[in-house]
Amino acid sequence: MLALKKPDLLRQQAYLNGRWCDADSAETIVVTNPATGEMLGAVPRMGAAETRRAIEGAQAAWGAWRAMTAKERAAILRRWFDLMTAHAQDLALIMTAEQGKPLSESRGEIAYGAAFLEWFAEEGKRAYGDVIPTFARDRRIVVTKEPIGVCAAITPWNFPSSMITRKAGAALAAGCPLVVKPAEQTPFSALALAVLAEEAGVPAGVFSVLTGDAPAIGGEMTSNDLVRKVSFTGSTEVGRLLMRQCAPSIKKLSLELGGNAPFIVFDDADLDAAVEGAIASKYRNAGQTCVCTNRFYVQDAVYDAFSRKLVEAVGKLRVGNGVEDGVTQGPLIDEAAVAKVREHIADAVAQGGRILAGGQPHALGHTFFEPTVLADALPTMKLAREETFGPLAPLFRFSDDAEVIRMANDTEYGLAAYFYSRDIGRVWRVAEALEYGMVGINTGLISNEAVPFGGVKQSGLGREGSHYGLDDYLVVKYLCMSGL
Ligand code: ADP
Repeated sequence: MLALKKPDLLRQQAYLNGRWCDADSAETIVVTNPATGEMLGAVPRMGAAETRRAIEGAQAAWGAWRAMTAKERAAILRRWFDLMTAHAQDLALIMTAEQGKPLSESRGEIAYGAAFLEWFAEEGKRAYGDVIPTFARDRRIVVTKEPIGVCAAITPWNFPSSMITRKAGAALAAGCPLVVKPAEQTPFSALALAVLAEEAGVPAGVFSVLTGDAPAIGGEMTSNDLVRKVSFTGSTEVGRLLMRQCAPSIKKLSLELGGNAPFIVFDDADLDAAVEGAIASKYRNAGQTCVCTNRFYVQDAVYDAFSRKLVEAVGKLRVGNGVEDGVTQGPLIDEAAVAKVREHIADAVAQGGRILAGGQPHALGHTFFEPTVLADALPTMKLAREETFGPLAPLFRFSDDAEVIRMANDTEYGLAAYFYSRDIGRVWRVAEALEYGMVGINTGLISNEAVPFGGVKQSGLGREGSHYGLDDYLVVKYLCMSGL
């Protein structure tokens, strides 16, 4: 099967409270390679009972984990980072096999994902509190930050490794245990992380990975009183459901949900740079990231030139199995993903959209799709309102700044936005006017462990990465010291 240097990274059991186990029912879920349709293996189909045990194990492990110094926890996280780095090639092979992204992107994700462990190992040492000037002579006010408690995470298939370490790094550094449920399409990357966590010395119960039935596992995670925080990355629809399920026990929530990223090309932009940014932000992971551009807005004077250059650049993309050299776009995750792209294209063409490149399922079959560019996009098209999550670049036309800001903000989402301009006044005005959590200015790539990733509006709550990311796993405690 996969030619791994360390074959035991590929596990077909879940990792609960320091033990590798099957489901109580012995049922499994099959995992396939989207590039070939081949079965890669199977993982346990766990449910509420196993989830409860994992949560109870996490609660039992919490006391000793929080009692460690930040430096002691950092040493373990650092070892985990080192192991991820040492086994990066194997981890990337596993990821490409179950997710489909090109091997170069998988390697990039492993480096990005590992970086969260390194970052939070350091940042955990700086969870400073405060001493506030007193309001009474016989009192002193001290503010400390404490780990919130047992945390649960539900993660998506598009970044099978880094969406876990981004949460685990912060949670563990803050002194919290974490129970993770990865997406059913990509459990092997998550389980490989558990193998390395165990080797790094993460104590039993501090990091568990459960695979199985999403509603059953999610239901237990959101209703169990021992869980103090739920962190979710995925669709807005499921985020809304989890938020509702968390309401009775008032859990803290971090939600990183859908986006509908605009990418604005102003008439003073460096067009070649804009095309390079457009390719990176649109076609990375075959358009299947929540920060991928969904809508391109191009100013009148440069519309034709930008379209031409973009089509030329798209012509250089190579679609294929991600393990092959030179492939820049893998398959989509499943048939439903292909159906959505086709629906958006058909709807746009029916309303006058013109296909400039691609537009069809790829000749390779399976879930491969041609990188597509569509001109004359209109606000009434589905692709303007819904996240396509595929390799479709619709080009809208605009004439002035106020108009494009209005169109860019006309969505319930607010995750990432991008724009290209060389005019410093315009850069500030537009950056401030965009209702988004993250704005890429003259760049199509913005993710890094040192920055606060997250959205506004229905794109979510909380921030991941950076020092803000640690705060999401800490609670503030105020000590009022009286009788002095
Ligand atoms: P996508 O459409 O990209 O697959 P989802 O939001 O459906 O996004 O999936 C993201 C994660 O949420 C996955 O781990 C999935 O298993 C999980 N999930 C889906 N439905 C539920 C649910 N009802 N309860 C808990 N988790 C869920």
